[in-house]
Amino acid sequence: MADEPVGGAEGTEDEEFGSCCAELKEAMSGKEFDPLIAVGEDGILYMSVGLIDIEGEEPGMVDHPVFFCPFCGTELQARDELRQDGDVNT
Ligand SMILES: [Zn+2]
Repeated sequence: MADEPVGGAEGTEDEEFGSCCAELKEAMSGKEFDPLIAVGEDGILYMSVGLIDIEGEEPGMVDHPVFFCPFCGTELQARDELRQDGDVNT
């Protein structure tokens, strides 16, 4: 009878991802697997699209921002919100 919200479910922007459908929510929470869809430090939702092999290092994940939910097609975030300044690899 005294269910307390965990981690403040109200008013946090992180909560907007996964609220569009159960599939995305499940894909992000991943209890029985490692989620490949996750919110980054910048509050942007990223999806891992593959593995990259770097010589001498462990394979790394290749992440791309997700603009639309891959399951239901809901727009999750606007392309304009992303800024990629100073993120150029040479
Ligand atoms: Zn969805």
